[in-house]
Amino acid sequence: MRYLILTLLPLSACLAPQGVMLDSPLAPLVRETLESTRTDLPILVLEDAATLPSGARASCHQDHIVLAREAQDEFDFFVAHELVHWYIDESPYAGLPHFIEEGLADWIACDLMGGLEGRIAQNIEIGTMSVDPRRLAVTGAGWSYLSREERQSLTRAGFDLVRRLGFEKLRVLLRENASPMDYLRAAGVAEGR
Ligand SMILES: [Zn+2]
Repeated sequence: MRYLILTLLPLSACLAPQGVMLDSPLAPLVRETLESTRTDLPILVLEDAATLPSGARASCHQDHIVLAREAQDEFDFFVAHELVHWYIDESPYAGLPHFIEEGLADWIACDLMGGLEGRIAQNIEIGTMSVDPRRLAVTGAGWSYLSREERQSLTRAGFDLVRRLGFEKLRVLLRENASPMDYLRAAGVAEGR
C-alpha cells in the first residue's frame, strides 16, 4: 500500500477568503492520469457536513473544492476524488455521463491510495444492481439533488463500467458521442448493438 502525504502551504502564505490553496502531491498525479491541460489549483475549503448536499462529504466548484471537516480521516481519498472533477473538463475524459465521471473519480482515487483491488472486490457489479435507467442521464448540476443512496448506487455503476471498459474505451465512446445506454451496451450489461 502506498501512502501519500498531503501538505498545505502555511496559512499566511496564501490565505484565501475561506480556505487555503491546495498544495497536494496528489494534484499532479491526478492531472497526469487524466492527461489534463488544466494548470491552476483549487482552493480547499473545510465546511461542516451540514452545509453540503444530503450526505455528501466533499464537492468540487469552479474555483474551489469543499471537504467536510468530518471527512478528514479520509482526507486524501476525497481530495483525489474531487481533483478528478477539477481536472476532467480539460482532459480527453470531458463529457462522460456524470455517473461514469463519479465512478472514474473513485477509481483514480482508489488507485492512487493503493486500494483499487479492494474496492473492485467490494463493488457490486452493474449487471446485478438495480439502477433506474432514467437516472443515467443525470448531469453534474442534477447530481446533488439525488439522495445519498442514489448517488452511491450510480457511482458504483459508473465504477463498474470503468472496470469493464477501461480508460481507452471510455475515450473511444466519448469521441463517438455515446449515450449513457451505449456505455452499458459496450460493457455488455445492456441489450442491443
Ligand atoms: Zn464526485
